[in-house]
Amino acid sequence: MKKILKFGGSSIANGERIKNVVSIIENALNSTHEIYVVISALQGVTDALIKIGIEVRDGRYTETSLQSILDTHADVIMQLGLDTDMDLGTIFKQLSSELAKHIPRCPGASVDFNMWNDELLSFGELLSVRILSAFLRSKQIDAELLDARKVVITDSNYGNAYVHYQKSYDRIRSYIMNRSRLQIITGFLGANEYGKGTTLGRSGSDYSASIFGAALNVDEIEIWTDVDGILTANPKFVTGPSSISELTYEEAMELAHAGATVIFPPTMIPALYKHIPIVVKNVFRPELPGTRISEDRSLQGDIAVGLSSVSHVSLIRMQGAGMVGVKGINARLFTCLADKGISVMLVSQAFSEHSTCFALKPEETDLAQMVIDDEFAEELKAKYIDSILVKHDLSLVAVVGEGMQTTPGIAGVIFEVLGRERINVEAIAQGSTMRNISFIVGDMDVKRAIQALHRRLFETVYR
Ligand code: ASP
Ligand code: MG
Repeated sequence: MKKILKFGGSSIANGERIKNVVSIIENALNSTHEIYVVISALQGVTDALIKIGIEVRDGRYTETSLQSILDTHADVIMQLGLDTDMDLGTIFKQLSSELAKHIPRCPGASVDFNMWNDELLSFGELLSVRILSAFLRSKQIDAELLDARKVVITDSNYGNAYVHYQKSYDRIRSYIMNRSRLQIITGFLGANEYGKGTTLGRSGSDYSASIFGAALNVDEIEIWTDVDGILTANPKFVTGPSSISELTYEEAMELAHAGATVIFPPTMIPALYKHIPIVVKNVFRPELPGTRISEDRSLQGDIAVGLSSVSHVSLIRMQGAGMVGVKGINARLFTCLADKGISVMLVSQAFSEHSTCFALKPEETDLAQMVIDDEFAEELKAKYIDSILVKHDLSLVAVVGEGMQTTPGIAGVIFEVLGRERINVEAIAQGSTMRNISFIVGDMDVKRAIQALHRRLFETVYR
């Protein structure tokens, strides 16, 4: 049996937690033939580095910000009883000189800055792997760190790089082939073909775990986190949501896209192609089974498996008699948005073609409105299209579950529950896969909507 174990920032936030992680690693070493460990930066460190990057960019950087990061790591090293002289000194020096190099230049918001910023962010993971591998060695576990930038090959989209799978898999395999020690791998990091460091997107170390898992053809990818698995709903809204025991990759992706993100959505991709199960487990309660994500879950009569939501979104509606039967309106609408990098979160159009609406981030509405007004200036002038309507303070809610595809009446159940609660639904979207029924309600109604749906769909009395 071969496994990847991935631990996030909160699991390694301090010495005590790192010791806990080490006991999980020891257990795995005792029961599993071959394991690999992927970790992210210590809790809060990536956020702190991002803050430093912005300070540098804006010419506001002072040494105190760096000092607090150094202190965080120094504390952990002390708590673990490690030699404070371990090569951390060198890496801190590199970090300071990296900063010193750029402070006077103040790179500004350019590609240059994004490139430099990824270099800066890499220090979070480079430090955490050094600490964990040193601590493992101090416990007689023969561990060494692996800087993933040596083997994970990406494009140059700094901050959110696209991974070239096959090239990365080849590199990972040939690198690992010659190693016998336990590999402690930096999550989140990659490098482009010229060797420049990149990052895979916030929370990207889950994704790293999946990339290494797929490359090494492991039997299981374990994502260790601080909750009991993927939950039936966000605990912010529902008291005592339960952990979902099994999910398909698609369901997990749908649930992970919104709400309390337990797992970074792209993580599912490499695992899905290689048919490798992902298991999400709680470091604080390792005895619990957690959530198992695989292609062959048994449906067990579950119609819906979970609810997800995103609050504080806005809605734009474009409507007009001049849209009916006219080809290319949607193409133009979504192209002009895409050209400005505006991301659309939900789309709905009635078959009369009289109106199209979509949800987006509130901070992008002004720009969206401007580009739409510009793109459709003639139609607006001729009144073929009415003026664009914008609504704020809305929430997206999705009910997710493969079982909905074959269950008549589930949409009826959902909207009956909302009707009974007297909750107004602003828009509805359901893909033809029927794995996800999404709708929009007001921010002030979202908690009530989720509670009522959770009671109806997941709380045993109603089964
Ligand atoms: N350290 C990175 C972040 O905070 C990656 C991760 O935690 O998964 O986004
Ligand atoms: Mg995470």
